[in-house]
Amino acid sequence: MKLYCATTNKGKLREFRLAAERFGGGIEIETVPGLERIEPPEEHGETFEENAIAKAVYYSRYAPGPLFADDSGLEVDALGGDPGVRSARYAGPGATDAENNRLLLEQMRGAKNRAARFVCVVALAERGRLLGSFRGTVEGQLLEAPRGENGFGYDPLFYYPPFGCSLAEASAEQKLSVSHRGKAIEAMLRWLAGGRARAG
Ligand code: IMP
Repeated sequence: MKLYCATTNKGKLREFRLAAERFGGGIEIETVPGLERIEPPEEHGETFEENAIAKAVYYSRYAPGPLFADDSGLEVDALGGDPGVRSARYAGPGATDAENNRLLLEQMRGAKNRAARFVCVVALAERGRLLGSFRGTVEGQLLEAPRGENGFGYDPLFYYPPFGCSLAEASAEQKLSVSHRGKAIEAMLRWLAGGRARAG
């Protein structure tokens, strides 16, 4: 079965494909044909759910089969849940991962409570109709300096206690086995495999 997705983020796409491979069942993940030529919708939502659903419904009109879109980010307790839905553009529109990480370290300088979580919501739609949405989270602690070269985004600052290392020091397989994105995608794949009986 072919599942379309609407992301240009190479880090995310790699993780989606690895998750489908791990799950089995011959699901192939492809980006929407001509995605780079489709005008992206604005992300106005105040929640991951709103953004993921808006993207999935919008892009599914351009896909020949079921399509999913995700919205994800980092919630930091000491920053009242920021950067949250603004994680990709925390240091400004078009900010790089390094710029976002630098700003986050600055905001967290001296903070004692370093609890944070990654959140991912995956929404599934077909021809403009929402089929369901699926949420995954992973809890960790923010480091005071980046560690590791794997992954993307805030991974080098995200320490995952059960592994004893940052998510950028873990392998792609290890990260996916515990990550917000791994859990959300697995929930969607399980739902699809179960004949679309129920969705969250
Ligand atoms: P989105 O494209 O609006 O979902 O933006 C997600 C942003 O959140 C990314 O650009 C990263 O900055 C951050 N993010 C989401 N998931 C991860 C992850 O697995 N590792 C590190 N950063 C992430």
